[in-house]
Amino acid sequence: MPAANPQDLQGLRGVGPRLLETLNQRGISSVSDLLFHLPFRYEDRTRLRPIGGLYPGAQVLIQGEVEHSAIVRGRRPMLVVVIADGTGRITLRFFHFRNAQRQQFSTGSAVRCFGEVRAGYRGLEMIHPSYQRIVEGRDEPVPDRLTPVYPSTEGLAQATWIKLTDQALARLQAGEIGLEELVPSELLRNLKLPSLTEAVRYIHRPPANADVEALVERRHPAQQRLAVEELLAHNLSMQWLHQRQRRQSAPVLDHAADLEGQFLAALPFTLTGAQQRVVGEIHSDLGRGHPMQRLLQGDVGSGKTVVAAMAVLRAVGNGWQAAIMAPTELLAEQHLRSFQVWLEPLGIEPVWLSGKVKGKARQAVLERIAGGDPVVIGTHALMQEGVQFRKLGLAVVDEQHRFGVHQRLALLDKASASDEQAHQLIMTATPIPRTLAMTAYAGLETSVIDELPPGRKPVTTVAISTERRGEVVERVAAACGEGRQAYWVCTLIEESDAIQAQAAEEVAGALRESLDGVRIGLVHGRLKPAEKQQVMQDFAGGDIELLVATTVIEVGVDVPNASLMIIENAERLGLAQLHQLRGRVGRGSQQASCVLLFDPSAGQLARERLNILRQTTDGFRIAEKDLELRGPGEVLGTRQTGQLQFRVADLARDQDLLERIPPAAAHMLETDRGRARKLVDRWIGPAERFAGV
Ligand code: ADP
Ligand code: MG
Repeated sequence: MPAANPQDLQGLRGVGPRLLETLNQRGISSVSDLLFHLPFRYEDRTRLRPIGGLYPGAQVLIQGEVEHSAIVRGRRPMLVVVIADGTGRITLRFFHFRNAQRQQFSTGSAVRCFGEVRAGYRGLEMIHPSYQRIVEGRDEPVPDRLTPVYPSTEGLAQATWIKLTDQALARLQAGEIGLEELVPSELLRNLKLPSLTEAVRYIHRPPANADVEALVERRHPAQQRLAVEELLAHNLSMQWLHQRQRRQSAPVLDHAADLEGQFLAALPFTLTGAQQRVVGEIHSDLGRGHPMQRLLQGDVGSGKTVVAAMAVLRAVGNGWQAAIMAPTELLAEQHLRSFQVWLEPLGIEPVWLSGKVKGKARQAVLERIAGGDPVVIGTHALMQEGVQFRKLGLAVVDEQHRFGVHQRLALLDKASASDEQAHQLIMTATPIPRTLAMTAYAGLETSVIDELPPGRKPVTTVAISTERRGEVVERVAAACGEGRQAYWVCTLIEESDAIQAQAAEEVAGALRESLDGVRIGLVHGRLKPAEKQQVMQDFAGGDIELLVATTVIEVGVDVPNASLMIIENAERLGLAQLHQLRGRVGRGSQQASCVLLFDPSAGQLARERLNILRQTTDGFRIAEKDLELRGPGEVLGTRQTGQLQFRVADLARDQDLLERIPPAAAHMLETDRGRARKLVDRWIGPAERFAGV
């Protein structure tokens, strides 16, 4: 008989076909894999606490004698047990219980419980503690290590995880299985981190004297060691993906002298130095015959659209199609208008596609796209089935952080009618802290527009409690009286479009009453495209003086004459989002201002956040603060967080690790691809490794 494979899960005690299947479904197919299923918190059961010294909120291990137990009948029967240890007494409550349990708590028997202490009506209590009966006279030792708590999985109890990991750790200890070191040793030396085996052992069973706080916050060196692995694996998989892309061929796009020259000549301004530099970087990518994969970063109002237009014209001038995709209808419409103004004099009429284009109109649009119309603008409807380009040469994706990397690639698949891959330009106005960008956009080239068009004055920002709303309304009246235009932004988060629209309508109604003579418009996500466009046009043309809006105007909207913005309930929004909104004003030559109205009950943290906006208009600083205060999900927007959800790593906390990852990953890809692949397999899984590695 061949010797049993020590990696075989079925060789573990307690693993039958059912459990094996559950584990496999979780991507756990070997004993080593078990060791990468990590606890997410710990319980300190290493000491028995005297009941008399407990306080609400503490998670503790206690032991006592049952004084009394009873089933209290009410709407829901409840098992109530009182135990005492000589220093005090505490009540245990169970809502789910079997009759047999009642017997276990017979008066005088000893029980040991672990749970959170709460303040009840009649003194301290524990709801559903985990418990164990203690046989009289037997000295039952307490664990000498912290008790790990594993992310719960259906059908897998904590006790099962402990049993499984106990056995895996024993095999590791006995040298029957080993964890291959895949991280370059130099990186580990520099960071002074423990070996993988040491780290894994520590994380699964930390000693009683471990720094629990550090463990819970996942900044213990053992966890940092695993975070390095995980970040490296993520970075490697992204770099692979882009390397693979880069090896494909793409159209060689040469200087389109006529179109580009005419376009620049007709612009009412000249490009800033930063814009010219970035256009140069893009154009040189486009001439190489391999797909460009470039991220264009630039703060709100830095003029990214015009740069995108220069790329579009190069594609069109070389006989290829260009697509521009934006995440919201309003933003896509804004692009449509800009491109119409710029391109129509050049004889190019952009094609428009959004989810709201239906039926015959949609059919006609699809035909134009398939027939090779040069410029196509729209929302993610461009990625839907049935959209097929004849010859897509360039895809511009605005506000890419709202899309995932897979969505972006889906747009490229639309180009598959030709053998060549399209070039990609990804634009983001949300300034992303460098370390976060390195992770979210690993493998992309980056261009930054680090200069605003001349003549812009920073927006003056104040934070005012809603108790002084009246003064703010007067200020709006005065501004409109001087011929200025203003936005009044209503913020409701995580509510439906319908509720947002209703709230905005109410605000508009109230403002109409108090602002007699001011021409007020209203825009929200429930308006029909034509209505929305009409309102925006009226505002741009000055027919509307005060535009009441939901956060649909957050990105892209460009009305230079608007110089005052009021944001209601500003405390509800993230800093990056507020910065985006504020970026709608201060686009013209007038001194612009922004009023952040906050609820007087807003907490200290909320006020501090608003203060940051008062202090700076530097989007990068704001984003860094936001990252610190609210985490990467908020900075990047929710859609991408799935992609950036890590098991151990944390993008806000692990900034100093992040710095070191890309060079290490690049080096690994060059020198040891086999090792790189194993690392990606370990953390991301073979299925996610992206084909063709
Ligand atoms: P964003 O980077 O936020 O997308 P836009 O492309 O919308 O910025 O540009 C903001 C405004 O600045 C637009 O009105 C645009 O026409 C104008 N603009 C862009 N570049 C320049 C420039 N070099 N000089 C003056 N105005 C410019
Ligand atoms: Mg823009």
